[in-house]
Amino acid sequence: LVIGIPRETYPGEKRVATVPEVVEKLIKLGFAVAVESGAGDAANFSDDTYRAADAQVVEGAAALWAAADIVFKVRAPDANELALVRSGTTLVSFIWPAQNPELMQQLAARNVTVLAIDSLPRQLSRAQKMDALTSMAGISGYRAVIEAANAFGRFFNGQITAAGKIPPAKVFIAGAGVAGLAAIGTAANLGAIVRANDTRPEVADQVKSLGGEFVKVDYEEEASGGGGYAKVMSEGFQQAQREMYAKQAREADIVITTALIPGKPAPKLITAEMVQSMKPGSVIVDMAGEQGGNCELTEPGKAVVKHGVTIIGYTDLPSRLAKQSSTLYASNLLRLTEELCKTKDGKIDVNMEDDAIRGLTVIKNGEVTWPPPPPKLS
Ligand code: NAD
Repeated sequence: LVIGIPRETYPGEKRVATVPEVVEKLIKLGFAVAVESGAGDAANFSDDTYRAADAQVVEGAAALWAAADIVFKVRAPDANELALVRSGTTLVSFIWPAQNPELMQQLAARNVTVLAIDSLPRQLSRAQKMDALTSMAGISGYRAVIEAANAFGRFFNGQITAAGKIPPAKVFIAGAGVAGLAAIGTAANLGAIVRANDTRPEVADQVKSLGGEFVKVDYEEEASGGGGYAKVMSEGFQQAQREMYAKQAREADIVITTALIPGKPAPKLITAEMVQSMKPGSVIVDMAGEQGGNCELTEPGKAVVKHGVTIIGYTDLPSRLAKQSSTLYASNLLRLTEELCKTKDGKIDVNMEDDAIRGLTVIKNGEVTWPPPPPKLS
């Protein structure tokens, strides 16, 4: 079968769904690979590098979609792409079925099979190698610190120079999931003093192991919403948390917020008043912009200055590190392809008896199969 890689069409999207070193591995599994000319340009993978890996480079989206039996994408297809999908195609992409019911109906009507990489049952340990959400969140956490460092007017690390002593920057990180932990490690490696908080106290050891200090909210409440995820906390907890965050915001030079609750708007953790209390020149990077933001003053997609504080609400952090994110995404899709093609003969079997595959198969031969039954934990 032919795996096709179109050029991403979403404005500003720089990622590409596979990279030359992974093309070689897909070919070893028995597939042919077709890449749309220019697909890798924004991530610094030229057509020639794909050709050198034995991919066929084709001109234009129409030719690519016509040639492909399986299409790997980053962003869900847009209206023009939907019109190009051939009946019987297998599409692997971010889809977010809960948020995109209309797209799901349109895809089903095209009689395709859709594997939504966002719907992978992440709690299965077997699924970790395919977990693109984790790969992208890790990159986002790293890049959030780089964006903060770029907007901040001082060093992160403390220094003693002939001209005087420079104190280390103080970084406070709200939410210590995948992205938050990556941000903690990056900021600590740059030499900052890092503190972090999460409603799930079980992450305290991980925060510490990455060089951060876990700051607890002084209020006892069970925080798990199931599957390792958070839940909306009680008003009493939120009040206690606001008091602690107000203190941290006053002391911090940089605040990075990553707090999310599945299926709910992002919790508002940094109020306008807290922003006002921060030192001029401080920086907030709010990674929850797409879910409404953790900070009241965030403008999703933008960097703004309010009360002398730069508030960065970029929603395209993985795309800002396009070569790295494309490489990791390509590896996640390679691992998925290996699961789909155990026979290594260039054919795929979408095995609905396999919990991991069942979870991410949201449409099978034109039939909507989402939401899946809960996976058996293994
Ligand atoms: P996420 O992006 O949904 O949330 C980010 C973090 O924000 C979470 O740690 C959450 O607890 C925290 N948060 C939510 N509300 C908060 C609040 N009011 N105040 C402070 N913090 C708040 O989560 P994620 O990074 O995708 O993953 C969260 C957890 O899911 C992981 O730590 C892990 O336990 C689990 N997970 C497991 C696997 C796996 O087993 N393969 C893979 C990925 C994630």
